[in-house]
Amino acid sequence: MRRFGALLAALLLAGGLTACGGEAEMQSAQVFAMDTVMILTASGGETEAALKAAEDELYRLDRELSRTRESSAVSRLNSAPEGAAEVGEELRDLIARALDFSDATGGAFDITLAPVSSAWGFTEDAYRVPAREELEELMAHVGAEHVHLGDGTAVSLDPGTQIDLGAIAKGYASDVVAAICRENGVAHSTVSLGGNVWVCGGNPEGKPWQIGIQDPARPEEADAYVGILRMSDGFAVTSGGYQRYFEEDGKLYHHIIDPATGYPAESGLTSVTVVSEGTEGSGTMCDALSTALFVMGEERALDFWRSGTFDFEAILVTEDGRLLVTAGLEDSFTPDETAGYAYEVVS
Ligand code: AMP
Ligand code: MG
Repeated sequence: MRRFGALLAALLLAGGLTACGGEAEMQSAQVFAMDTVMILTASGGETEAALKAAEDELYRLDRELSRTRESSAVSRLNSAPEGAAEVGEELRDLIARALDFSDATGGAFDITLAPVSSAWGFTEDAYRVPAREELEELMAHVGAEHVHLGDGTAVSLDPGTQIDLGAIAKGYASDVVAAICRENGVAHSTVSLGGNVWVCGGNPEGKPWQIGIQDPARPEEADAYVGILRMSDGFAVTSGGYQRYFEEDGKLYHHIIDPATGYPAESGLTSVTVVSEGTEGSGTMCDALSTALFVMGEERALDFWRSGTFDFEAILVTEDGRLLVTAGLEDSFTPDETAGYAYEVVS
């Protein structure tokens, strides 16, 4: 942290922000929601009102989108008799977007992995390696085709299918917070929701914000970065196996599941950061795509980037020690040479 001055660490839970220099005038709020310490800073406009409203919204979204709270809208759908429920406009729209991301990513992003994540114990923190037959049985209910959007706000799930918005909820929350900041005329802001970062307005000194991208090989070290991203306005969202995993018989099992197999994705990537401009809805997109690209692996992920289906840039860290950055980030990303990765700009 000290080495680079004031950094916003994409992956740090707490302590990712330090106030110094121009940041001293920033007001901040800390929220614990969605199982994450969230840190918000803002200045200019109706800062206080914006932070208060953002805080309220983050708690509300936690209550509505959580899979483990029985009273959440998601749980009501997952446990609905006949699998059908009126879920409200917000959740319906988010599910609709999630299904679009499944489609666009060839199924790499999939909100119906819920029962599979549970079988691995990631939902309840009761880690275990499920038997192959158990997974096969559960996998029969996985796939976007098992989710049906009805009239109005009705959604229905096929028997045995359940949804989990864990790979998209924080990104959506960052979009909601960004909208609140805009409405309240906030001039400078940083919002860090556990791996999901949104910044606006550059820092008060007129420079871009600096975002440290966590080195996935050293997750326990708070200031171990593969590099620094400079950005005034936009989203940066990181997915990595190191964010949640357990070890059994010497093998590591992490929380990002390959929908093609039901097993933790072994794609050769250890982390993926998706970066985009701060346009409306981009936080949700970055969150969905960071998870999807992690599952896809290097080749498919870069082909997907090149296809231009979505407007984003990416930072990939590979298991074999390479750090790949897409061409659009060449001028705004600086690799940290001490991290020891072979750096490559791809086009
Ligand atoms: P993220 O940290 O955004 O990459 O999201 C990971 C979380 O999303 C996991 O903890 C699961 O709850 C869920 N998940 C795991 N694999 C997938 C996948 N392939 N597509 C969508 N959600 C997933
Ligand atoms: Mg995600």
